[in-house]
Amino acid sequence: MHHPNKDGFFGNYGGMFVPDTLMPALEALLKCYERIKDDSAFTEELAYYLHHFVGRPSPLYLAKNISKKFHKTIYLKREDLNHTGAHKINNTLGQILLAKKMGKTRIIAETGAGQHGVATATVCALMGMPCDIYMGSNDIERQSLNVKRMTLMGATINSVNTGSKTLKDATTEAIRDWMKHVENTHYIIGSALGPHPYPLLVRNFQSIIGKEARKQVLEQAGTLPDAVIACIGGGSNALGIFYHFLEDTSVRLIGVEAAGEGLETKKHAASLSKGKPGVLHGSLNTVLQDENGQIQLAHSISAGLDYPGVGPELCYLKEKGRLESYAITNHKALEGCKQLAELEGIIAALETSHALALLADKTVLSDNQTIILCLSGRGDKDMETISKHV
Ligand SMILES: *Cc1c(COP(=O)(O)O)cnc(C)c1O
Repeated sequence: MHHPNKDGFFGNYGGMFVPDTLMPALEALLKCYERIKDDSAFTEELAYYLHHFVGRPSPLYLAKNISKKFHKTIYLKREDLNHTGAHKINNTLGQILLAKKMGKTRIIAETGAGQHGVATATVCALMGMPCDIYMGSNDIERQSLNVKRMTLMGATINSVNTGSKTLKDATTEAIRDWMKHVENTHYIIGSALGPHPYPLLVRNFQSIIGKEARKQVLEQAGTLPDAVIACIGGGSNALGIFYHFLEDTSVRLIGVEAAGEGLETKKHAASLSKGKPGVLHGSLNTVLQDENGQIQLAHSISAGLDYPGVGPELCYLKEKGRLESYAITNHKALEGCKQLAELEGIIAALETSHALALLADKTVLSDNQTIILCLSGRGDKDMETISKHV
């Protein structure tokens, strides 16, 4: 149930929709991963860096003031306290160690807002590997601080001028590079997306979040939570915190997508709520499309949720009824951000703020419940946007 079938499908979703030239690389990646994933040298090295470099375990913090305000017991899983400020480093660290085991000498990655690019450039500096980041030219302009960070750590930024000049186009270029240099290059994908085995790899590397959270909540509250909540871009922080609760059927798993300007407009990124099955970047998932099946441009105030697709395992869990999903507008997300800052002294990323905004919705969450919310990242990167609106 929690493992894709041999063709990489979770139920009806996933697969490997890539050119023939890439199939051997994907098969080699899966083979290597299956061989070393339980190997003690690999797990110990990963655990070492997660602790000493990233700062894990991240705290599970009982947020008293918002608990009081919303009449609930609310725990925040503090991924914002990780090195580089979000959960993405859990995945980039796992993948670069895997790349080293495969004998790869070069790393490439795509990035939209630059968060995954920064997390990739960080582990490449750590491991002394050269790194090429693909980024849309529009994003390079909008995210100059992250471009400077990546450059300072020695990454090469490749500007992509095709299409909408954003994440979707950067991903296409990264795949093209990989096809050309597949012998020596590993492609680090940034979310639980793309062709098999990436959704499996990324979910497993991120599942450290929920593994810690489940143990911490049992220690601190003496009970499992009523619900676990996370925001959904491609699905990596959500699957990361959900995974170890999947068998706990009393625990509701709740994902929050970006409703942008509203689900009734075309300006949103709610692929689980509004998408239709389609192939995007190597796998079959629910994707935002127009009447002719063309991929629709996604929109969200938070760059990390601004993607027209979502990974296969979440599509599957939603279809099976294990995952509930809701969508939160830009406006409500900003309110959620402001509230946490004022009441708890924590500035959350705008992605995370979508999950925070759901706490106010009594039709979804009744009083006196115990909730864990994945605080996927910190809001420093969003300060300009936040101060413009609040
Ligand atoms: C990238 C990002 C997300 C969205 O990505 P997922 O793969 O869905 O987790 C959410 N929160 C933060 C802080 C991010 O940087």
